Amino acid sequence: MKLLLHTCCAPCSVYCIKTLREEGIEPTLFWYNPNIHPYSEYKARRDCLKNYAENKKVKLILEDAYGLDDFVCGVLKNANGKNSEDGKNTDANGPKDFEEAMLMRCQNYCYPKRLRKVFEFAKEHGYDTVSTTLLYSIYQQHDIIKDLMESLSREFGIDFLYRDFREGWREGQDEARAAGLYMQKYCGCVFSEEESMLGREIARPMKKAGISPTNQNVRIVIEKTKASGETNINSRNLADRIGNQSNAKA
Ligand code: SF4
Repeated sequence: MKLLLHTCCAPCSVYCIKTLREEGIEPTLFWYNPNIHPYSEYKARRDCLKNYAENKKVKLILEDAYGLDDFVCGVLKNANGKNSEDGKNTDANGPKDFEEAMLMRCQNYCYPKRLRKVFEFAKEHGYDTVSTTLLYSIYQQHDIIKDLMESLSREFGIDFLYRDFREGWREGQDEARAAGLYMQKYCGCVFSEEESMLGREIARPMKKAGISPTNQNVRIVIEKTKASGETNINSRNLADRIGNQSNAKA
């Protein structure tokens, strides 16, 4: 098997490389992540992977593309779930909620943009199998990625090696920290940076207000905070925001 493994970052590659090697499979890592912004973050993740690959003596191919402008334009053209390739969508008002944000950013644009490139490269360079470290992260849309990989596999006539690498989430994270790898705080794009940072700001006052900072609760408060334009968060308006959202959805 000649495996090309799309690699989003060094920490996510730790468990994947380890378990694949245990199976007797030697992957070639493929870096293509124009979704990572700003440039300082892109460079930190890329350079960390370069060093890690060298240490682990695993082959790494860098498709070096810092794609802020293209990426942001691509995401906006996918607003409301429309496909950027139709060239007609000018209704870029942004997502109305997190589900729509995920649809227009991750599913409709970011995953296809990155993963199609991996299959194209594999086809051009004689790899017979493709996989991705995105299947390791518990924060990614695992089933959507799996479906997309299966569909690309059929289109390109190249095997997709599926593994549920999430099984090794804790082990991989512990090893990455022990190895001193750069651990990112958000998925990659500027939109995910905003969500992550807002989520961190909200979590502490939520706990203080006796509200469990579950992903769902954090998302509700972020949505309401963005909609209201009022960024001051305290225990009273936190409770109101969650209450209002619950009523609205009832
Ligand atoms: S949140 Fe992550 S997967 Fe989704 S568009 Fe941003 S970088 Fe891509």
